[in-house]
Amino acid sequence: MTYRGIIHRYRNYLDLPTEIEPVTLLEGDTPLIPVPELAARLGGGFELFVKFDGMNPTGSFKDRGMTAALTMAKARGKKTVICASTGNTSASAAAYANRAGLRAIVMIPDGKVAVGKLAGAIAYGAEIIQIPGSFDDALSFVVEISQKSDIELVNSLNPYRIEGQKSGAFEICDALGSAPDLLCLPVGNAGNITSYWAGFRQYNDVNGSGLPEILGVQAAGAAPLVLGHVVDQPETVATALRIGNPARGEQALAAAEESGGKIIAVSDDEILAAQKMLTSVGIWVEPASAAGLAGFKAQVEAGTINPAGKRVVLICTGHGMKDPDIITKNSPAPIRMPVNFDQIYQFIMKGL
Ligand SMILES: *Cc1c(COP(=O)(O)O)cnc(C)c1O
Repeated sequence: MTYRGIIHRYRNYLDLPTEIEPVTLLEGDTPLIPVPELAARLGGGFELFVKFDGMNPTGSFKDRGMTAALTMAKARGKKTVICASTGNTSASAAAYANRAGLRAIVMIPDGKVAVGKLAGAIAYGAEIIQIPGSFDDALSFVVEISQKSDIELVNSLNPYRIEGQKSGAFEICDALGSAPDLLCLPVGNAGNITSYWAGFRQYNDVNGSGLPEILGVQAAGAAPLVLGHVVDQPETVATALRIGNPARGEQALAAAEESGGKIIAVSDDEILAAQKMLTSVGIWVEPASAAGLAGFKAQVEAGTINPAGKRVVLICTGHGMKDPDIITKNSPAPIRMPVNFDQIYQFIMKGL
């Protein structure tokens, strides 16, 4: 069967009109990569997989929801979509708006958007408004604008975003033959954890695929769901998680609790160490996307999670190329050598 995107593949499971024509860039169908080397480094005796959702058309899982949101916006005759964004939502909204022939307006917080994400929104021609405030400020503005006008909100408050993002859970169940025992993922505005839990429950109701325990992971400087209160000035290297007042916070807490899991926080150092672990097996994700591994590792080392005999899936939400600065800033510069074969050859052989 030719792959035609998540709406085509999972139409029976998505609350969308059956005859609708999808606005798609063939998102989804992302690799579920076995990483036994990392399982061994965490003690072994269990199966570990990375769901690499950075392999979506605009480099993040946001495309799963955006195909559904733009499909519905177009079908309902909308002309313009708007979102607030820490970066990936804006690139995705802009790309899918182009696909649908709609206008995209994105509002981003000043200076807190990774360079590859901003470039994406610019490349796709979005109208970009930057404010000297936080993501949470931007979100409250775009919500109000969408309420006062015919402009469609495509943040994850849009129910079709959640519908589309359920496809991640379906794909994992299809690939493994059942749900994993444990699912670990980053939590920012909390749309994705809400979607995964809804997706697993729905698939289980229909197919008896089982339910995973869910470990949601926030960055310590932006951990409202762990602290139990709004964070006014969220701060973390994981720009996609710089959110102090998650729109679907209640649902995220419910998802973790109903699944028998929890939401925890990890430090920026733990996030960057987890990013390195993933690159060491060939998978480069942006910092936020390493939070799932960072949280899992911390829980295993603390003895609060015993993965023995289990199947564990880490959701890696965005591609590393979105945020190249974080790598180049924290790494040594390349070695400079003269244009001289002998010197270069000797240098290389000395190191072996
Ligand atoms: C949006 C985003 C998140 C956070 O997802 P939520 O649905 O807001 O919790 C995590 N990682 C990346 C790369 C993202 O783009």
